[in-house]
Amino acid sequence: MQAMMLDRAGARLRLAEFPMPEPSPHQLRLRVLACGVCRTDLHIVDGELTDPKLPLVLGHEIVGRVEALGESVGGFAVGDRVGVPWLGHTDGTCPYCRNAQENLCDNARFTGYQIDGGYASYTVADARYCFPLPDAYSDAEAAPLLCAGLIGYRSLKMTGDAARLGIYGFGVAAHIVAQVARYQGRRVFAFTRPGDTRAQEFALGLGATWAGGSDELPPEKLDAAILFAPVGALVPAALKALRKGGVVVCGGIHMDDIPRFPYELLWEERVIRSVANLTREDAYEFLAFAPKAGVKTTVVPMPLSAANEALDRLRQGELTGAAVLIP
Ligand SMILES: [Zn+2]
Ligand SMILES: [Zn+2]
Repeated sequence: MQAMMLDRAGARLRLAEFPMPEPSPHQLRLRVLACGVCRTDLHIVDGELTDPKLPLVLGHEIVGRVEALGESVGGFAVGDRVGVPWLGHTDGTCPYCRNAQENLCDNARFTGYQIDGGYASYTVADARYCFPLPDAYSDAEAAPLLCAGLIGYRSLKMTGDAARLGIYGFGVAAHIVAQVARYQGRRVFAFTRPGDTRAQEFALGLGATWAGGSDELPPEKLDAAILFAPVGALVPAALKALRKGGVVVCGGIHMDDIPRFPYELLWEERVIRSVANLTREDAYEFLAFAPKAGVKTTVVPMPLSAANEALDRLRQGELTGAAVLIP
């Protein structure tokens, strides 16, 4: 089998050959059909997330076909198409796991970070963290649902019933969340890099009420804002756009420093919170909901060997839609 390996932070990925992985008792062996490229992968390559296994196979939006099953696996059969997300292991016993917050598990491990992921032709994954995928999506189209979709959906839930929703950073997660929000009858206000008219048009095409630069204020106050861009300076910018009692949800795993800002921006019960990882419950809920809501994903398929180029294009903001590697 082939995989694109990361040897150390800052290195280019290299194509390497490996023996076929054997599933342990709880694992599936999957032929990888598609694997999405996520901004988190860039944070790992850049060393901003500091606890990867090394060398590492990146990739936590894996669509795979079951080829072999460990002896303790239930609920899957050879030939099934499954999805593998970021959450790859929890202990099931810590206070968070026992309180339906397995996304915060003290001993969690993550796919494509502490467990080898899907930038590969084959992989193994713990079946207890794999999900059947809705038939409405092709292999490539299903991939972005598994992180951008799931974590975007969790972020959206954290906004409660916000009717006027701001989204800062209009990339892959935003393009999915905007469709869900529209389906739920919310109005979407999209904020992009100043002058990025292509992203603004993309947002308007997905039903956004308004699109503009992140340096602009929306035409009316927002009930909530989700930040997908990893830019700390957007936190005070978003607070300025909120009504009293509104919430800013930071949806990314990494963000640069939040600059000092006057308390006045937070006053009147405005809230700033982050969203970390996902629970399996989020995955079941979202994967059932997405096809019902008619969520479509825009993807840019690329060969596995072009993983470095895919990461470069994501970094440059050159992609409209999600890069998806096809082995
Ligand atoms: Zn736990
Ligand atoms: Zn991700």
